Amino acid sequence: AAAAKAQMVKAIRVHELGGPEVLKWEDVEIGEPKEGEIRVKNKAIGVNFIDVYYRKGVYKTDLPFTPGREAVGVVTAVGSGLTGRKVGDVVAYAGNPMGSYAEEQILPASAAVPVPSSVDHKVAASVMLKGMTVHSLLRRCFKIEEELTWRMQVEAGHTILVQAAAGGVGSLLCQWANALGATVIGTVSSEEKAAQAKEDGCHHVIIYTKEDFVAGVNNITSGKGVNVVYDSVGKDTYQGSLKCLASRGYLVSFGQSSGLPDPIPLSDLAPKSLFLTRPSLMHYTATRDELLESAGEVFSLLSSGVLKVHVNHVYPLSEAARAHADLEGRKTSGSIVLIPDN
Ligand code: NDP
Repeated sequence: AAAAKAQMVKAIRVHELGGPEVLKWEDVEIGEPKEGEIRVKNKAIGVNFIDVYYRKGVYKTDLPFTPGREAVGVVTAVGSGLTGRKVGDVVAYAGNPMGSYAEEQILPASAAVPVPSSVDHKVAASVMLKGMTVHSLLRRCFKIEEELTWRMQVEAGHTILVQAAAGGVGSLLCQWANALGATVIGTVSSEEKAAQAKEDGCHHVIIYTKEDFVAGVNNITSGKGVNVVYDSVGKDTYQGSLKCLASRGYLVSFGQSSGLPDPIPLSDLAPKSLFLTRPSLMHYTATRDELLESAGEVFSLLSSGVLKVHVNHVYPLSEAARAHADLEGRKTSGSIVLIPDN
């Protein structure tokens, strides 16, 4: 067989761990897709906090690497052994593998899902990783026994606390939880973010940089506490999050934007018989069926208007460093998208 033809594309590369400045704009070689793989020309790339963790070394990978775990693009080549995939298909992926901060990339076809033609590329690149995360948080992680019956998801009658409610995940989480009928309390750092959280269906918003959120939640719930806290802030909030829970409540710790939380002694759960889980999207989209089910729900809620995506920040791919600085600097709300130059 003829040797695979190598081609150069531009990508963001990380050669050393560090601040946003370690994101370098370089030429990289890309070959032809192997069996079961597709090559995709990216149209829009989602920026997620996980990209920051890898850049800083909070999560580990080998150097050098191309960051990014979410993109939408057009298939430019199809490897052998694949049926039902063709050049020109618009697909999206979120999760594994890493490497979406690139003009073009190679993926296992099993990681990609078709994107409905009605969905804008920037919106699709904002909603795969974050939306499927929200699906798992609301509809898979949380289960509670009430009046001798198991409730399998957040629903009417539940009160929930969402930390960083105006963030990319937070915004979708509040909208979806509101649509499921829950009473939603959100925390944010500014008046501007508070306005977005209200628009997204938060019934109560606490500006946690000005007000003690534990006291705020206590007040709102008349001392009862909430059934579940969705905490992606980590170090700065997890202790307060535990205090906000009602008896038999859930702490869903799913991120650490402010740093890794300290270990929680099991005995801290005992006074209220609390549950603690630390979910990761990968495990909730591990099979092809789970992936299609999760992405399908997200796209269906988008098309019915239940979810509205705020693509508040768009940067050229070559300026990914600026996107990271703004995300870490708490300057962003909603989603951040990178657009390749050509
Ligand atoms: P966000 O848009 O939510 O950005 C992070 C937000 O966290 C900031 O805007 C800020 O909101 C808040 N924050 C509080 N303290 C800090 C701090 N010290 N530094 C930076 N930000 C801080 O990001 P994403 O939507 O991409 O991700 C949200 C979280 O969800 C992340 O922690 C991410 O790791 C996690 N996640 C986990 C997944 C999983 O599978 N477990 C999957 C996807 C996301 P404010 O200014 O209002 O305080």
